[in-house]
Amino acid sequence: MQDDSIRSDDALLIVDIQNDFCPGGALPIAEGDAILPRVNALIEAAERAGALVVASRDWHPPEHVSFAARGGPWPRHCVQGEPGAAFHPALRLPERALLIPKGDRDDTDQYSAFDRTSLAEALRRHAVRRVWVCGLALDVCVRATALDSLAAGFPTLLVASASRPVTEAGGAAALQDFSRAGGRIMA
Ligand SMILES: [Zn+2]
Repeated sequence: MQDDSIRSDDALLIVDIQNDFCPGGALPIAEGDAILPRVNALIEAAERAGALVVASRDWHPPEHVSFAARGGPWPRHCVQGEPGAAFHPALRLPERALLIPKGDRDDTDQYSAFDRTSLAEALRRHAVRRVWVCGLALDVCVRATALDSLAAGFPTLLVASASRPVTEAGGAAALQDFSRAGGRIMA
């Protein structure tokens, strides 16, 4: 039972809750903003427990390799310093949250917040023993981040109600992959 609440040696890892991934943005995920009350409740629980809060953000240079103009799979989105790259205004991040930029390399994309960001080292430095993951999009960056968290050796929980997929089928497959890899799905 205690296991179902956030503890002081947990980290809450919030993936890419940025304007461009929410309705009205450049790469909107259906109901991407509908998760905000749940995410904010998780942040409050993490704060009460004294757990580390981490927020990743897609942080692309203007001509990023992942953009369609360069043959990539995505429209232009989350360009450094532009309003679309800002966290959604309703996201209540604590001031002491650890921010992890990703997707800022020109040669390749980084879906996972662990991909060449030193996040695993930062979590170990903070003596984190377990990781909770939520955010956008469930079948892309949340999936990659949650799988990498497991691969880095952290028991990992994925909060399904605090995530939304690009496609429903992709979301279901992501949960299945994560579960098969040993992750635990929270409602
Ligand atoms: Zn991106």
